[in-house]
Amino acid sequence: MSLAEDRAMLTGKRWRGGRLVIAAAAIVFAGLAFAGTLPVAYAIAGFAIVTAAAVLAIRTGEEEDRRQPIAISERGDDLLRAVVAGLPDPVVALDRDGRVMALNERARALAPALRQGEPVSFALRMPELIEAIGRAAAEGREQRVVYSERVPLDRWFETIVMPVKREPGAARPELVLMTFHDLTPLRRVEEMRADFVANASHELRTPLAALLGFIETLQGSAREDAKARGRFLAIMQEQARRMARLIDDLLSLSRIELNAHRRPDTPVDLVPIVRQVVDGLETLARDRGVTLQIEASTALSVRGDHDELVRVFENLVENALKYGAAGRRVDIKVGLGSSTDREPEAQVSVRDYGPGIAPEHLPRLTERFYRVDVSESRAQGGTGLGLALVKHILNRHRGRLTIDSAPGEGATFTVHLPTAVPAHQR
Ligand code: ADP
Repeated sequence: MSLAEDRAMLTGKRWRGGRLVIAAAAIVFAGLAFAGTLPVAYAIAGFAIVTAAAVLAIRTGEEEDRRQPIAISERGDDLLRAVVAGLPDPVVALDRDGRVMALNERARALAPALRQGEPVSFALRMPELIEAIGRAAAEGREQRVVYSERVPLDRWFETIVMPVKREPGAARPELVLMTFHDLTPLRRVEEMRADFVANASHELRTPLAALLGFIETLQGSAREDAKARGRFLAIMQEQARRMARLIDDLLSLSRIELNAHRRPDTPVDLVPIVRQVVDGLETLARDRGVTLQIEASTALSVRGDHDELVRVFENLVENALKYGAAGRRVDIKVGLGSSTDREPEAQVSVRDYGPGIAPEHLPRLTERFYRVDVSESRAQGGTGLGLALVKHILNRHRGRLTIDSAPGEGATFTVHLPTAVPAHQR
């Protein structure tokens, strides 16, 4: 209901009340005149005075209405509630005494103790927020409060406390609006970036420290020791290679991330790619005493980036040879399967018969620098970025990686990729 309609309704009520008073006065004065208690002239004069007083009261009331705006808390509650309910963020509207006038479902989910009509301080146990509300109501200026919740999960919010005034120049606001912005995703990204830089620096610092140590030894005590020099140089070479691998993986990751939104569209056949990878790793397999077996269909076309797909299978087969060598066998299968939505898809599985992986590690294996056993990974020349790269490449190809494993039963890493449907069949 608009303010004008409100006023019209109020005026109507006043006139109806006034008419009642005038009619009552008419009956009373006529009765008195008729009974002879009051002379007719006096009765008429008395009636005229009452009528004039009633009309005056109605007019003064109208004038008062015009000067005194009707408070939102009395009149516009429904409209306010509807507006607040329709807002996409968690919003709470308070009167200037801090009592909840309206709140939407999202605000209720955030602070279930909030009740309409009750002071907000009953429900929110954050003194800095309560103070900000008090300041906004008293000073009429916007306040911002960032706070975090630890239970049940770590979450960060920014609350904007906005005083709402009817007139721009008014000293005190009519009501105060509180909106909550969830900063958690932003904070998580910031934390991930910081962790990533810390991890990358740490990974680089370890081989660098080793290199510096050996250089010092070679310059000092081992200067004339030819045998020690040969041994140290071999270690230094391995450490330098490790740094090079790490930098190479880091650069690949950032390049893939940069192109993440661009899906590769060249049709490529997976079978020769997997065969090429297996051929390239034959020597490593022989060194580890592992037999590599491949079972493949004649051709399996997907849309992809040849070099990136080589990288995916290299990582998976190399991991199987490194971590699953104890099983002495690695089986690779390339074939057509169906996705969870029953769409045809290309599937390449790499199965080893090694120690397997405990279930608690499985969801985290594709995180950057996550390793089940850091020293084993280092001993194997790992960077901890292999599976992260695999995941990113597959994401870009609209594919995915699944991992099946149990301790003592080896591990199966399966790549799922949408098949390339020839143009004439689309
Ligand atoms: P890394 O450079 O350490 O090999 P990856 O991202 O390729 O990094 O692998 C992450 C971790 O996953 C490895 O350190 C290892 O602990 C575990 N892992 C990967 N593949 C296998 C496998 N076939 N069997 C057992 N553990 C594996």
